[in-house]
Amino acid sequence: MTDSLKDVYDVVIRRNPGEPEFHQAVQEVFDSLAPVMRKHPEYVDVMTRMCEPERQIIFRVPWTDDNGKVQINRGFRVEFNSALGPYKGGLRFHPSVNLSIVKFLGFEQIFKNSLTGLPIGGGKGGSDFDPKGRSDLEIMRFCQSFMTELYRHIGEYTDVPAGDIGVGGREIGYLFGQYKRITNRYESGVLTGKGLAWGGSQVRPEATGYGAVFFVDNMLKAKGESFEGKKVLVSGSGNVATYAIEKVHQLGGTVIGCSDSSGYVIDEKGIDLDILKEVKEVRRARLSEYVDLRGNGTKLGTDGSLWNVPADIALPCATQNELNEDDAEALVKNGCQIVGEGANMPTTPEAIKVLQGAGVGFAPGKAANAGGVATSALEMQQNASRDSWSFEYTEERLSDIMSSVHDQCVQTAEEYNEPGNLIAGANIAGFVKVADAMLALGVI
Ligand code: GLU
Repeated sequence: MTDSLKDVYDVVIRRNPGEPEFHQAVQEVFDSLAPVMRKHPEYVDVMTRMCEPERQIIFRVPWTDDNGKVQINRGFRVEFNSALGPYKGGLRFHPSVNLSIVKFLGFEQIFKNSLTGLPIGGGKGGSDFDPKGRSDLEIMRFCQSFMTELYRHIGEYTDVPAGDIGVGGREIGYLFGQYKRITNRYESGVLTGKGLAWGGSQVRPEATGYGAVFFVDNMLKAKGESFEGKKVLVSGSGNVATYAIEKVHQLGGTVIGCSDSSGYVIDEKGIDLDILKEVKEVRRARLSEYVDLRGNGTKLGTDGSLWNVPADIALPCATQNELNEDDAEALVKNGCQIVGEGANMPTTPEAIKVLQGAGVGFAPGKAANAGGVATSALEMQQNASRDSWSFEYTEERLSDIMSSVHDQCVQTAEEYNEPGNLIAGANIAGFVKVADAMLALGVI
């Protein structure tokens, strides 16, 4: 970090006390930007502005559970940066959600969205609501209450939320229904991740997982290799993990392990997606049920973490800081060649150091998981033109976008004398475009 950036970083720490995840996300970007700041000192002031969200909304979400008891949760929407387009980013419903988490996600989203090359700014939101064990009607009442406040802040040209952890098609449906009812507008472009019958896009559910695998496929191709015959670990078993597994299998690799908050499963023959979807999407149950249904030599991992299992490629697709220094050392010891982040910031800074030091190819989430939000932007395009595209065409657009994100990272890393460092490439390329737009728009 340059001295001037260190000054900005100190202000960030002082102004945002008690927000370790946000500090981590800012530090990770700043660590990459020294060569840019030396070339363009005018960007330092822009960075100071970029670290301060344009607007932060925190609100009470009251709702009634199935026993008639009133429950209170906290809702958030951090509208971080709209230099390139309307704020865009998901909503996360998870008990760990707080302002620090939403700000780290919103900050990352600015650069990720910039890398897609599509006209979307950065934002993020969510709630500390825990959907686990809640009935369908409780989920609906919560979503309706959440939207009863949020609707006044969002809009097709203002802020376009989507899903993230704990928010999938069901939740987007309830949120969209309530928005439509309150505003009396069928404003399809106000949310993405909608169902196909009511304004959604083909490939949106698959996009984050598929996109991460496309990104890693580009890295493999650059070395003259492919997924064919590779053993792959995918952490998580939600939306991102599920479709990462599907695409790895389509490209000839074998996903031999995945996980959830209760542990991990090893399935040397390759994770069976029909069974995984039945357990996770239909039953909303734990992975132990996967083992019961699949049988066939499948094991529930008990010692250490999923990352101790020998494999060629690791795709952390669960949550932030899930892959630590010990995990990274285990991956290196077992000869892992590439780590590709399907989740947001899943690798700790210490783990990244270990991986990069050992020459493991590293695809940062900002770039590797940009496929989800990119396909959201494609959904917005279809909504704006009242059109809907085929699965094949949309997947081809996604694949092209991921190749372009990959190439930008590689080329920018080379341009700034960090060949092969895709973290530097992603941070610099994402930053420069937003910074130039902010300079052009004046001090606002
Ligand atoms: N939550 C996803 C992300 O982290 C997608 C956001 C969106 O589609 O707006 O990028």
